[in-house]
Amino acid sequence: MTAMLTPVIPTVGVTLSTQLAVADADYATTRSLHDGNHAVAFAGDAADLAEAAASQQTGNIEIDRAARRVAELRAALDRLEAGTYGACERCARQIDAARLEVLPAARTCVSC
Ligand SMILES: [Zn+2]
Repeated sequence: MTAMLTPVIPTVGVTLSTQLAVADADYATTRSLHDGNHAVAFAGDAADLAEAAASQQTGNIEIDRAARRVAELRAALDRLEAGTYGACERCARQIDAARLEVLPAARTCVSC
Protein backbone atom coordinates (compact mmCIF):
# COMPACT_ATOMS: atom_id res chain seq x y z
CA MET A 1 0.00 0.00 0.00
CA THR A 2 1.39 3.36 -0.97
CA ALA A 3 1.33 5.98 1.69
CA MET A 4 -0.91 8.81 0.63
CA LEU A 5 -0.04 12.29 1.65
CA THR A 6 -2.24 12.90 4.65
CA PRO A 7 -3.63 16.37 5.09
CA VAL A 8 -1.52 18.13 7.72
CA ILE A 9 -4.62 19.84 9.00
CA PRO A 10 -7.51 17.43 9.50
CA THR A 11 -10.17 20.10 9.13
CA VAL A 12 -8.70 21.67 6.01
CA GLY A 13 -11.52 20.29 3.86
CA VAL A 14 -14.06 22.17 5.98
CA THR A 15 -11.94 25.31 5.93
CA LEU A 16 -11.59 25.14 2.15
CA SER A 17 -15.30 24.48 1.62
CA THR A 18 -16.22 27.39 3.88
CA GLN A 19 -13.79 29.71 2.14
CA LEU A 20 -15.06 28.55 -1.23
CA ALA A 21 -18.64 29.38 -0.24
CA VAL A 22 -17.51 32.87 0.82
CA ALA A 23 -15.44 33.31 -2.34
CA ASP A 24 -18.35 32.16 -4.51
CA ALA A 25 -20.68 34.67 -2.86
CA ASP A 26 -18.04 37.37 -3.19
CA TYR A 27 -17.61 36.57 -6.88
CA ALA A 28 -21.37 36.81 -7.44
CA THR A 29 -21.54 40.11 -5.55
CA THR A 30 -18.55 41.57 -7.39
CA ARG A 31 -20.03 40.55 -10.71
CA SER A 32 -23.45 42.00 -10.02
CA LEU A 33 -21.86 45.19 -8.71
CA HIS A 34 -19.76 45.74 -11.79
CA ASP A 35 -22.10 44.36 -14.40
CA GLY A 36 -24.20 47.43 -13.69
CA ASN A 37 -21.41 49.54 -15.20
CA HIS A 38 -22.20 48.34 -18.67
CA ALA A 39 -25.82 49.36 -18.45
CA VAL A 40 -25.08 52.98 -17.58
CA ALA A 41 -25.90 55.27 -20.46
CA PHE A 42 -23.53 58.18 -20.73
CA ALA A 43 -24.55 61.57 -21.92
CA GLY A 44 -21.42 63.09 -20.39
CA ASP A 45 -18.18 64.38 -21.82
CA ALA A 46 -14.89 62.62 -22.54
CA ALA A 47 -13.81 62.86 -18.90
CA ASP A 48 -16.96 61.04 -17.83
CA LEU A 49 -16.35 58.38 -20.44
CA ALA A 50 -12.73 57.96 -19.38
CA GLU A 51 -13.81 57.67 -15.78
CA ALA A 52 -16.42 55.10 -16.71
CA ALA A 53 -13.85 53.10 -18.64
CA ALA A 54 -11.43 53.22 -15.71
CA SER A 55 -14.14 52.14 -13.33
CA GLN A 56 -15.10 49.29 -15.64
CA GLN A 57 -11.47 48.22 -15.82
CA THR A 58 -11.24 48.23 -12.03
CA GLY A 59 -14.42 46.19 -11.97
CA ASN A 60 -12.96 43.66 -14.38
CA ILE A 61 -9.83 43.36 -12.27
CA GLU A 62 -11.95 42.76 -9.17
CA ILE A 63 -14.07 40.20 -10.98
CA ASP A 64 -10.91 38.45 -12.21
CA ARG A 65 -9.48 38.41 -8.71
CA ALA A 66 -12.68 36.97 -7.25
CA ALA A 67 -12.85 34.35 -10.00
CA ARG A 68 -9.23 33.38 -9.42
CA ARG A 69 -9.87 32.97 -5.70
CA VAL A 70 -12.78 30.62 -6.44
CA ALA A 71 -10.61 28.65 -8.87
CA GLU A 72 -7.74 28.39 -6.36
CA LEU A 73 -10.01 27.05 -3.63
CA ARG A 74 -11.68 24.60 -6.04
CA ALA A 75 -8.24 23.37 -7.12
CA ALA A 76 -7.19 22.94 -3.49
CA LEU A 77 -10.30 20.86 -2.80
CA ASP A 78 -9.54 18.79 -5.91
CA ARG A 79 -6.02 18.16 -4.64
CA LEU A 80 -7.43 17.16 -1.28
CA GLU A 81 -9.70 14.65 -2.99
CA ALA A 82 -6.86 13.38 -5.18
CA GLY A 83 -4.60 12.96 -2.15
CA THR A 84 -2.02 15.43 -3.38
CA TYR A 85 -3.01 18.29 -1.10
CA GLY A 86 -0.18 19.86 0.89
CA ALA A 87 2.57 18.88 -1.51
CA CYS A 88 4.54 21.74 -3.05
CA GLU A 89 3.88 21.90 -6.79
CA ARG A 90 7.48 22.86 -7.51
CA CYS A 91 9.67 20.76 -5.21
CA ALA A 92 7.06 18.15 -4.14
CA ARG A 93 7.99 18.64 -0.49
CA GLN A 94 5.35 18.90 2.20
CA ILE A 95 4.14 22.46 2.65
CA ASP A 96 4.41 23.71 6.24
CA ALA A 97 1.24 23.22 8.26
CA ALA A 98 1.55 26.79 9.53
CA ARG A 99 1.57 28.07 5.94
CA LEU A 100 -1.44 25.95 5.00
CA GLU A 101 -3.30 27.19 8.03
CA VAL A 102 -2.89 30.76 6.87
CA LEU A 103 -3.19 29.98 3.15
CA PRO A 104 -5.16 26.74 2.77
CA ALA A 105 -5.06 27.05 -1.02
CA ALA A 106 -1.26 27.47 -1.13
CA ARG A 107 0.33 25.45 -3.94
CA THR A 108 3.98 25.98 -3.15
CA CYS A 109 6.13 25.88 -0.03
CA VAL A 110 7.77 28.95 1.50
CA SER A 111 11.14 28.28 -0.17
CA CYS A 112 9.60 28.05 -3.64
ZN1 LIG B 1 8.60 23.83 -2.71
